[in-house]
Amino acid sequence: MKITLLQHTSLAVCASAIRTCWQSFDKSDNGGEKDKELIDRVGNKFKHASTLEHLVYTFYIQGISRALLQELARHRIASLSVKSTRYTLKELKGEESFTCRDFEKARKYLVMTDNEKVNEMSIIALENLRLILKEGISNDKAKYCLPESYKTELTWTINARSLQNFLTLRSSKSALWEIQELAHKLYESLPFEHQYLFTCEKL
Ligand SMILES: Cc1cc2nc3c(=O)[nH]c(=O)nc-3n(C[C@H](O)[C@H](O)[C@H](O)COP(=O)(O)OP(=O)(O)OC[C@H]3O[C@@H](n4cnc5c(N)ncnc54)[C@H](O)[C@@H]3O)c2cc1C
Repeated sequence: MKITLLQHTSLAVCASAIRTCWQSFDKSDNGGEKDKELIDRVGNKFKHASTLEHLVYTFYIQGISRALLQELARHRIASLSVKSTRYTLKELKGEESFTCRDFEKARKYLVMTDNEKVNEMSIIALENLRLILKEGISNDKAKYCLPESYKTELTWTINARSLQNFLTLRSSKSALWEIQELAHKLYESLPFEHQYLFTCEKL
């Protein structure tokens, strides 16, 4: 999977939002150490967490499975724009047939697991899908035989408060392995000066 941070709010904006409450703008150091301490104290320690909603991140997420997408979409406090299978399945039509051992070739379309048997079965499903499309069956019908491992991509926008919740829940060892990996990569792609606001369990 590949994560690209497309944009983020500067810490100075969040600090300024907090300073609105006390009208203490003159104490700002424009997103420096004083402002960072203020954001952590008010947003995290005092649990005045709505102030963290002024920090917003937009990521471009590529190469995750639709199994992971289903879990990601459960996080309601975020905005998603997802690659549509209805419009893009034609990408498979130009492919030559897949045998169940075509791991490298199939990796373009499928997320592979560490289980060879599961990967083989996914590739068989991919080949079945390709045959259905070759027959001229519409994407709207063909998509019902997509394997859950089929790769997708999306633009994902989330504020810091909701991202804290996401990273806590999804970097946990009890979360799905692929979403743990996503949580780590999201954390790693945050600007270094923002990472102190988040906790992310080690992989
Ligand atoms: C290890 C693990 C296993 C899971 N297993 C399952 C499963 O078997 N089946 C299943 O269906 N789901 C499962 N889930 C998904 C889980 O139930 C949540 O839907 C998902 O993690 C999103 O969390 P969230 O609601 O906190 O996030 P968001 O939807 O982003 O919400 C963020 C926060 O906003 C508040 N909020 C949002 N909506 C409401 C609301 N309507 N009322 C009150 N407060 C609200 C809550 O404080 C919430 O924490 C699992 C999650 C994890 C981490």
